[in-house]
Amino acid sequence: MKDTQDGFTNLIGGEWVTAGATRANINPSDTSDVIGQYASAEATAVDAAVDAAKAALPAWAEASPQLRHDILDAVGSELLARKDEIGHLLAREEGKILAEAIGETTRAGQVFKFFAGEALRVAGDLQPSVRPGIDVAVTREPVGIVGLITPWNFPIAIPAWKTAPALAYGNCVILKPADLTPGCAHVIAEALHRHGCPPGVFNLVMGRGSTVGEAMVTHPDIDAISFTGSVATGHRIAETCGRLRKKVQLEMGGKNPMVVLDDADLSVAVPACLNGTFFSTGQRCTASSRLIVTEGIHDAFVDELTRQMQALTVGDARDPATQIGPVVDAKQLQSNLDYVALARQEGAEVMGGDRLDLNKDGFYQSPALFLGTTNDMRINREEIFGPCGSVIKVTDFDAALAVANDTEFGLSAGICTTSLKHASAFRRRSQVGMVMVNLPTAGVDYHVPFGGRKGSSYGAREQGRYAVEFYTAVKTAYIAA
Ligand code: NAP
Repeated sequence: MKDTQDGFTNLIGGEWVTAGATRANINPSDTSDVIGQYASAEATAVDAAVDAAKAALPAWAEASPQLRHDILDAVGSELLARKDEIGHLLAREEGKILAEAIGETTRAGQVFKFFAGEALRVAGDLQPSVRPGIDVAVTREPVGIVGLITPWNFPIAIPAWKTAPALAYGNCVILKPADLTPGCAHVIAEALHRHGCPPGVFNLVMGRGSTVGEAMVTHPDIDAISFTGSVATGHRIAETCGRLRKKVQLEMGGKNPMVVLDDADLSVAVPACLNGTFFSTGQRCTASSRLIVTEGIHDAFVDELTRQMQALTVGDARDPATQIGPVVDAKQLQSNLDYVALARQEGAEVMGGDRLDLNKDGFYQSPALFLGTTNDMRINREEIFGPCGSVIKVTDFDAALAVANDTEFGLSAGICTTSLKHASAFRRRSQVGMVMVNLPTAGVDYHVPFGGRKGSSYGAREQGRYAVEFYTAVKTAYIAA
């Protein structure tokens, strides 16, 4: 899928543009596998992309919704038709196992198709004025030029769920994907280009956050920034956007609780926790990193979860037998191993969490479970972002809820119980954006709002029809007949 002989280049103003510098995109399952050389641009590429977007914006903002629909729908169809091939690329560049990578690609295709429909549905309303003879028209307009900054852990779904609504509602886009995983964003750029997205409407600028990302956030002609990534980067971006009066939306980390009550069905609770804690190598903002378990079921739950965790197959993401792929890079692996060491220092009993040598040069570790922990330990306060989970034993539902809410984060929370009363109380009283009952804290639909509260999120929700809030500006017009 190389688009030029020089490698994978940026898309600016409808042209594939070499950045000069490039960066090797490497497979974390096997670092001898180099996927390709990808552009690593400097800040000047952002200036060029903004100039192209400014030139394209007036026509795109006024373009027929049918045109926007047709382009997004065609991109969605292409992603769905090529889901196996693109999923394979995703597995290679991020280390997500094939089944999950194909699933993520499918979701990206569905997102494009959903927002293709929304392009035809952008609605306002006509209201009576309190003054006779006047109509009040409330309409939605594009925000303008939006900068999209995305992380490495969902390299096609997150670029898709920001790009598709941005374009559907008539904005021009500059997308900067994570430097570690630019390949899937490049696929989206190729598809938009191929299906007739006008020059300058969608621009891809690959490069480092400290240069390209920073230049986007500070550029006076970028009207809004949608960011997904770490808390530290998000807060920095929010401060800058606040100073520059730029619209901003942040989706950041989580320390998501999964409560398991005495009356839970273990055949439901254990797979939900296994999936939520360890699948996708724990590299999900919605991962269940704190398992809060009541006393009566604690020992049986821990025995079964440990047994199933130890049976998980860790390996190359492209091998269909693999259940847990590699960690994304050496830095993240070292960080995970440091947290395993910290768990021991803080007094936890540690199961697993070892560096694995699988006879290939990849970033492998066994899943880790920390037993006998308390919620004040650093391992339970900080996002680890690896296949590591803690068990916290509590007395009853009220204690479980208190521990679940005792965190700076508020993305997702889950409960496993057969009690409707407790499930309902948990849904009402959890200080999070998404609640799961008898389901893993990770694993969400593509057509409903996604996002959190407290330190996890800031600004309007992503996905589904709620995305219209971020990507449009409301105008109220008074019309005297
Ligand atoms: P990150 O280091 O914050 O990076 C995210 C993006 O920001 C990358 O594209 C990065 O560029 C860029 N960036 C870095 N510094 C920047 C700066 N000064 N100005 C502008 N952009 C900058 O996060 P990550 O490690 O890629 O992703 C993991 C984090 O994302 C976790 O905390 C996870 O919980 C969170 N996440 C949240 C959600 C959600 O929806 N809540 C979903 C997925 C992931 P580089 O590529 O050059 O680093």
